[in-house]
Amino acid sequence: MDTLTDKFGRQITYLRLAVTDRCNLRCQYCMPAHGIDIVDRKELLTYKEMYRITRVLSELGVNKVRLTGGEPFVRKDFVSFLEMLSFNDKLDEINITTNGALISKHIAKLEELNIKTINLSIDSLSKENFAKITRRDVFDEVYKTLELLEESSLKLKLNAVVQSGVNTDEIIDFIELTKHKNIEVRFIEEMPFNGVGQRATEEVWNYAKILDLIKTHYTEITPLQSDKSSTSHNFKIDGYQGSFGIIPAFTRTICGNCNRIRITATGLFKNCLFDEGVFNIRDFIRNGATDDELKKLFLSIVKEKPENGFIAEANRKNNKKVSESMSTIGG
Ligand code: SAM
Ligand code: SF4
Repeated sequence: MDTLTDKFGRQITYLRLAVTDRCNLRCQYCMPAHGIDIVDRKELLTYKEMYRITRVLSELGVNKVRLTGGEPFVRKDFVSFLEMLSFNDKLDEINITTNGALISKHIAKLEELNIKTINLSIDSLSKENFAKITRRDVFDEVYKTLELLEESSLKLKLNAVVQSGVNTDEIIDFIELTKHKNIEVRFIEEMPFNGVGQRATEEVWNYAKILDLIKTHYTEITPLQSDKSSTSHNFKIDGYQGSFGIIPAFTRTICGNCNRIRITATGLFKNCLFDEGVFNIRDFIRNGATDDELKKLFLSIVKEKPENGFIAEANRKNNKKVSESMSTIGG
């Protein structure tokens, strides 16, 4: 079998697929208050197209898919799409990243479909601060989802974007959640993928600063062995049930073991989070490409995967800085 390997020998086994650019929240670090210019529905990949792309990629070695957005559960019939995807026996894992505001009623179905991990984005444990960050009053529902997920058979990871002057005083509260809960909390460095909505930040809260703060509170921190391609560096406070991780998303020290590609809701193929998108798969399919042609295309574009996120960013046309909303990429 031909497999997706880039010119640095990295094997691509993981697809992040954004199923929509729409979202029910307006997180400050992701988009402006008025939202983003969403594309016409016709420009979004259909579920059938997403299914086909995923099937072809799975025949080239992709065995793990993360569904994201925008907010995936905002798209009509998303759960039926999950059911469709679950028939692909080449996929070992289907995971979802969600803001959790719309999913409580679907949890039993997600368990039935063997969804592996839910990454629940929750940037504050205070109702008021959560409303300030997301510009929506849905904290109670999201926290209810957190508790339901914790009791479910699904693996739960919490994602918190560390935002200077906004939620850094809650880092320890998040870690304390892992004392009695067997969950993984992951702190993500904030990136400028905000649809040009975010205010200038006061301080840079990068990996090192986050870890330093944690070290001032705890002496018994054990580093955990992670998968080679893990996006986070993981730790555990001795005696705590859960664990925590830090994702150096912006300082980009994890690129050497990257096994990921992304496809946006409009079918733009991205070799790296920081590139501008390298090919429109939607148009290629709609112009009649066969599965073999699709395979050849994937094998060749993956060869162009940049060595790391800094090179991908530098290769943007006219040195265009990253500023698009993460809602259009999927994270
Ligand atoms: N709506 C879903 C959610 O929030 O989980 C899925 C899409 S969201 C774009 C995926 C992830 O990207 C979330 O964990 C979110 O917090 C993160 N994210 C969004 N904008 C970001 C930014 N500017 N910097 C770092 N992470 C960001
Ligand atoms: Fe929506 Fe997720 Fe962006 Fe928040 S981070 S606005 S929930 S897409």
